[in-house]
Amino acid sequence: MAGSGKFFVGGNWKCNGTKESISKLVSDLNGAELEADVDVVVAPPFIYIDQVKNSLTDRIEISAQNSWVGKGGAFTGEISVEQLKDIGCNWVILGHSERRHIIGEDDQFIGKKAAYSLSQNLKVIACIGEKLEEREAGKTFDVCFQQMKAFAENVPSWEDVVIAYEPVWAIGTGKVATPQQAQEVHVAVRDWLKKNVSEEVASKTRIIYGGSVNGSNCAELAKQEDIDGFLVGGASLKGPEFATIINSVT
Ligand code: PGA
Repeated sequence: MAGSGKFFVGGNWKCNGTKESISKLVSDLNGAELEADVDVVVAPPFIYIDQVKNSLTDRIEISAQNSWVGKGGAFTGEISVEQLKDIGCNWVILGHSERRHIIGEDDQFIGKKAAYSLSQNLKVIACIGEKLEEREAGKTFDVCFQQMKAFAENVPSWEDVVIAYEPVWAIGTGKVATPQQAQEVHVAVRDWLKKNVSEEVASKTRIIYGGSVNGSNCAELAKQEDIDGFLVGGASLKGPEFATIINSVT
């Protein structure tokens, strides 16, 4: 743990679940013993947020998986930051690789979303990460720094931001980054913050890792100095395994 505050574990449920499966997951999480020294956040699909907010222990905060870029209005199919706040969300995941590479969101659009969310006091999990071909071409740092720059140009204060380094090749593939690979990028991102934002922001901001984190590989990753938590996809859909990941900090 290098950033300040608690270890941070987010569960990104993506486009998964039904009322029934989510009710089971919530009851597993409500019954789990969770390490007190960890911030825990889950991101259900929009339509289940209300159900989760009303049934999940207050010990766990709620995040959205996306938000509209500005104030609500005539934007068919979108959900505004104001609506997310209204329903009890206090976090949003922005810049996730699935939104960048499947939906086509670019750095500028993601940056604007971050600015608007923070202006409305919705905290941001800001995702960055390189594709396999970019890593193989030796461009990992360039890609991550470019994505960081777009956030930095839009973020007025980093207090309400957690950075998630999620190499695209590790997301949903079962191919987790080695603890050394993750640590190396986390150090580089922290150093980028130091040079481009401030020493204080670099030392305080939490940088979490995501990409095939599970109950078996989390402990080794959590030992790395600059890994301040995890963003977990698939394994966050299984209550007991997610609890193991949350408790991996000990
Ligand atoms: P995964 O997803 O844990 O299923 O690889 C992580 C993420 O996309 O946040």
